[in-house]
Amino acid sequence: MNKPVDTVITNGKLVLESGIVQGGIGIKNGTICIIATDNHLPQGDRVIDAKQKLVLPGLIDGHAHIHDRGMLDHEEFTPGSFAAAAGGVTTIIDMPLVSQMDTPTLLQEKIDDGSRLSITDFSFNVGMMNEFNYPVIPEMIARGAAAFKAFTCEPFYTNTGVLTRLLSEVSVNGGHITVHCEDQGVLDEFSKDMKNEWDAPVSHSLSRPNLAEQLAVRQVIGIAEQTGGHLHIAHISTREGVREIEKGKLSGVMVTTEVCPHHLVFHRDEMNRIGPRSKMNPPLRSKQDRAELWSALLRGMIDITVSDHAPSPIEKKELGKDDIRQAWSGVDGIQMILRVLLSEGVNKARISIQKLVQVASKNPAKIFGLYPKKGVLQVGSDADIVIVDQTKEEKITSDMMLSKCDWTIYEGLKMKGVPLMTLVRGLPVYEDGKILVKPGYGQYQPMGGRTIEEEA
Ligand SMILES: [Zn+2]
Repeated sequence: MNKPVDTVITNGKLVLESGIVQGGIGIKNGTICIIATDNHLPQGDRVIDAKQKLVLPGLIDGHAHIHDRGMLDHEEFTPGSFAAAAGGVTTIIDMPLVSQMDTPTLLQEKIDDGSRLSITDFSFNVGMMNEFNYPVIPEMIARGAAAFKAFTCEPFYTNTGVLTRLLSEVSVNGGHITVHCEDQGVLDEFSKDMKNEWDAPVSHSLSRPNLAEQLAVRQVIGIAEQTGGHLHIAHISTREGVREIEKGKLSGVMVTTEVCPHHLVFHRDEMNRIGPRSKMNPPLRSKQDRAELWSALLRGMIDITVSDHAPSPIEKKELGKDDIRQAWSGVDGIQMILRVLLSEGVNKARISIQKLVQVASKNPAKIFGLYPKKGVLQVGSDADIVIVDQTKEEKITSDMMLSKCDWTIYEGLKMKGVPLMTLVRGLPVYEDGKILVKPGYGQYQPMGGRTIEEEA
């Protein structure tokens, strides 16, 4: 005879909005139907003993280059979603990489790909936005793709007039625009200073100074101040950029931002040692910048964490051995967000476990219109859950990475805090290094209304 619920998780430390409580979760038809102390939980067909470990809502990765139909040798939905699940990420929000994804037809193709190939739930950023495709904004929002991507620099440069147009459209229709902020003029000029120093990987960072981010962030916030609408700044990496966002927030501009695990772990002085695999945009910054990113995350001036997962075959990295300009820009990360936040954040007392849940699950769910279906442990929400051992230590190796990428920038790091088991809509999809479901379990999650105003 069937038990009252499908699955019960018992004996956990549940990280709820109200605090950490001892107990468990009952799951029926993929959603959370009860949260209670163990002696009040119903019987379930499947019982998962959390063994006093932390039970968190699954992470939502709002910026991950997972499945670009023109670059499937870099990453694709199946290995990408395996890596996500192994990192406690239960919803991937794919970001275009090189191919345009800016029409209902292209969106439908990607929904079909994800439905066939992904084991985690997924949704889509639309881009790259330019002077030709902004009329598509209302139609894409109606289809559940309400996040748009634009650049202030190459290779997808749009001028300030076009950015104004884009933000106006978002202001009228909802959704948000994510802008990659580096000032092209500064990049052009500072790269001339490198002369013959391109054999040193750190030159990549020195040729893209903090000023480039500061000026671009200031400019797009200036635009958002005029147009209204929700502006989201991609992968903030400098203290100057954070300061501009802080000023914008305090003056009432609807601006949010995100930070990547690699900017929270590494710094510029390590680039020559690590080599071309340390190249990404924006680049690694100074130790002071890194410290400021942690501080801004704690203060709520950085709203969410994202992976900006954009690995490549190793050969494309090694092209930069003698000239860093030739290397692919981008690193792995989707399997590392939670590990970095636990190891370098919670376990080093830089942030609390509640702050971790806020920046990695709840705030992304709100920004991407998925809250409260996603991003929180509460009755009625999807049972997207990750069980973590906060004290378990591990050494990071490329062998443990489930991504298509066969290398990792985190190679050799000793970290503390490991995701043990990941559930998507009530079903365990990952446990202890193993994937438990077949590709195609993941479902498209259309973004609903904007709830950023309610953000805590
Ligand atoms: Zn990116």
